[in-house]
Amino acid sequence: MFKPARHGEVGGVSLQRSQQQKPLRSHDRFNLCAEMSHKIVNLRVRDVRFPTSLEQHGSDAMHTDPDYSAAYVVLDTDSGLKGFGLTFTLGKGTEIVLCAVKALAGLVIGKSLQEIVSNFRGFYRLLTSDGQMRWLGPEKGVIHLATAAVLNAVWDLWARAEGKYHAMYLSIQDPKQIVSCIDFRYITDVLTEEEALDILVKAQEGKKQREDQMLKEGYPAYTTSCAWLGYSDQQLKQLCSDALKSGWTRFKVKVGADLEDDIRRCRLIRKMIGPSSTLMIDANQRWDVAEAISWVSRLAEVKPLWIEEPTSPDDILGHAAISKALAPLGIGVATGEQCHNRVMFKQFLQASALQFVQIDSCRLGSVNENLAVLLMAYKFQVPVCPHAGGVGLCELVQHLILFDYICVSADLRNRMCEYVDHLHEHFTSPVVIQDAHYMPPKDPGYSCEMLEESGLYFKHFTFVQYKHWRGKNILKLSHKRTGLKMSKEKVFQKAWGTEINFLQSSFSVTVNRIFFFLLIKVPSFSESFDFFLILFGLSFIM
Ligand SMILES: [Mg+2]
Repeated sequence: MFKPARHGEVGGVSLQRSQQQKPLRSHDRFNLCAEMSHKIVNLRVRDVRFPTSLEQHGSDAMHTDPDYSAAYVVLDTDSGLKGFGLTFTLGKGTEIVLCAVKALAGLVIGKSLQEIVSNFRGFYRLLTSDGQMRWLGPEKGVIHLATAAVLNAVWDLWARAEGKYHAMYLSIQDPKQIVSCIDFRYITDVLTEEEALDILVKAQEGKKQREDQMLKEGYPAYTTSCAWLGYSDQQLKQLCSDALKSGWTRFKVKVGADLEDDIRRCRLIRKMIGPSSTLMIDANQRWDVAEAISWVSRLAEVKPLWIEEPTSPDDILGHAAISKALAPLGIGVATGEQCHNRVMFKQFLQASALQFVQIDSCRLGSVNENLAVLLMAYKFQVPVCPHAGGVGLCELVQHLILFDYICVSADLRNRMCEYVDHLHEHFTSPVVIQDAHYMPPKDPGYSCEMLEESGLYFKHFTFVQYKHWRGKNILKLSHKRTGLKMSKEKVFQKAWGTEINFLQSSFSVTVNRIFFFLLIKVPSFSESFDFFLILFGLSFIM
């Protein structure tokens, strides 16, 4: 369903692609990076959306109807090798991330993989510290999401060039090279380059045994799929029962909309999973500080291990106050999925404001910035339990947590990686879960290449294609899950509603463009019409 991007797609900054379709040799890819420079000749970015809100997947106290989506980046090189990366969004606004990716494209196209990885810290800083674009962040918000998508594609390209899956490729690197990828600016007061190197060198001991252990047993996971806020009690029971049969022992429940409802749902889940299983709760930033403390205290009876995102993700001292108040109840605070950057993580750690670090593969500046956070968390001896789910987050973050265990922490106590059972079928190398553990990937790369037919790219879609995609996928989804009865009429009503909004928006933009063209290019047009009348007409249309 994806169509090949047209030449010059990103504002005319791409290079000629005449040499890029050379077939890739299959043997001994390990030496390819040394033999070939893999010059990046084009960057394509696509708007990929899935209508998950139809079945309330991903629903929580603050995001009641997410449509899991991604800004999906493909890097083309002159050798034919491609790099795939993405950043995760909730539907509306993905087009804004695409604009930011296109703005960064000029800093990427024309550079070779060798050139980038020989000074990866410099390349990271090039993307995050452009003299004009850094005003849009710096290192936060839409521009940082776009940076993550681009850098994820670069890391994917690098691992593919070496023929290794990403975590393994990271782990076989020299500690000095790993450290050279990290931008230590603003964090040297808690972690210097020398300290980071020392941690990585010491962790070399036992590395092979830990990698063998992971290949055999996998990395422990917990599930969030059973208890989205919009699910009925019948769904909760059914999904919990299924998960227990599949070997899951760690469960997370969404809370924060209604206290009495939370108490009832959490009691139900605790009863289903028994006292020996682990339960976490997640409020997705719903409360003020005092409200968080009183609300979670009422839920202490179900013995949650942590409360996740109890308040604003920016309120470091608020998290510290909540941590202090809940410590006597044995409940920790977890946060990080909307923590902007390494500097904020530094302060969360300095202020003892969290007891579980939740890194995110698409919120921070890709592997480069996540490496900094993993090393800081190790220094503060705070366990890392990554955020995952969405589109492709499980596929990406599994590499980071495997690397953390093999090459940094060497510790599994109180550690687990989130797992959500949605949309994996759209990836060429989906995650493999066995007995509630992430099994290390086997395919080369960073595991975020999507199937061609899985995407929706507005720019290349005609109305008929869009209608076909919406209808086909929504009907497929509505029939796939049990416990939800949705009529065809309701499904199409939702699909058509979105389509009509999309078409109205496109129509307005087109009409506006015609008016402006006539005003600028045709003198008689502006002379023959009253200017203010036109302005009035434009504002009415918009
Ligand atoms: Mg969460």
